[in-house]
Amino acid sequence: EAKRNGRNQCVTFTQELSDAAILKHQTVVELAEAIKRGNLDVYYQPIIDNATGKIDKLEALVRWQHKDRGFISPAEFIPLAEEGGLIQSLGEYVLDQACCDLKIMHEAGFPYIEMSVNRSSLEFKTVDMQASEWLKVIASHNLPYASLTMEITESLLMDMDGQYMQRINALKQAGVKIAIDDFGTGYSSLNYLRSLPADIVKIDRSFIINIPDNQQDNLLLDGIITIVHNLGMKVVTEGVETQAQLHYLQEKKCDYSQGFLLCRPIPLHELMEFITQNESVF
Ligand code: C2E
Ligand code: MG
Ligand code: MG
Ligand code: MG
Repeated sequence: EAKRNGRNQCVTFTQELSDAAILKHQTVVELAEAIKRGNLDVYYQPIIDNATGKIDKLEALVRWQHKDRGFISPAEFIPLAEEGGLIQSLGEYVLDQACCDLKIMHEAGFPYIEMSVNRSSLEFKTVDMQASEWLKVIASHNLPYASLTMEITESLLMDMDGQYMQRINALKQAGVKIAIDDFGTGYSSLNYLRSLPADIVKIDRSFIINIPDNQQDNLLLDGIITIVHNLGMKVVTEGVETQAQLHYLQEKKCDYSQGFLLCRPIPLHELMEFITQNESVF
């Protein structure tokens, strides 16, 4: 009896495993199809200048509306794209769409707006999507390199060797800005801050969530802002959701805010309306 139970359990376990594997495989196939057919959307979330309330920059965030399963979060499908060998074509797709939409914004009377695009660490490692490919895409849209920012996370920096550094430097020398995304969630933060030619540090949402009520978190955030400023970089805080957080960040001379309090990620046409109606978001 026990043996039979054991066997059944084993069968169930295997069945579940293979169901998960099948779903994963199917999702990768469908994602490849969505990229090929141009069925992914790119939404934009404003990054606000804390001193003026003006929209300074947009972050491009990919969206996938699956025909049966509805909206699938990038937090779920970006890792699948990485595993399934799709991250490079996905990245190219998002960069191209973001450049296209930035050009539209520039020509619609907002020539000062800049665009921030996420770049997976894996994408950065492949030989075929080197710095020159990025520059080609930007140039093909007749955009100044300095109007683009590349967001990279700590995971890339942690196993950085000379080659990646060369690619980052090539982008930087052309004028593309470099932002460190989700700062504080990795392990090597302070060490690589010295060696990386970054312009912007994006402090992760987890450091903002308890301010201004938690005195320890306030002190930690104050320290990070001071270090980043002393290194000559700008600070963006992610996940600003309350007025109290915003006021605290303004008081601490944090440069930019991004969060649901100010504006959610939205499609281009909604964003154009939002900007037209809000010369200052405050
Ligand atoms: P991320 O680059 O750190 O992007 C910020 C995430 O925080 C976005 O989630 C955004 O919607 C969310 N967010 C913004 N404000 C708030 C807020 O006030 N509260 C909360 N709770 N969340 C806020 P999203 O769009 O789901 O993207 C998740 C992650 O997926 C991104 O994190 C990024 O790592 C990745 N991702 C998204 N688009 C791309 C892409 O085109 N390429 C690559 N390689 N990764 C992408
Ligand atoms: Mg980002
Ligand atoms: Mg981030
Ligand atoms: Mg984050």
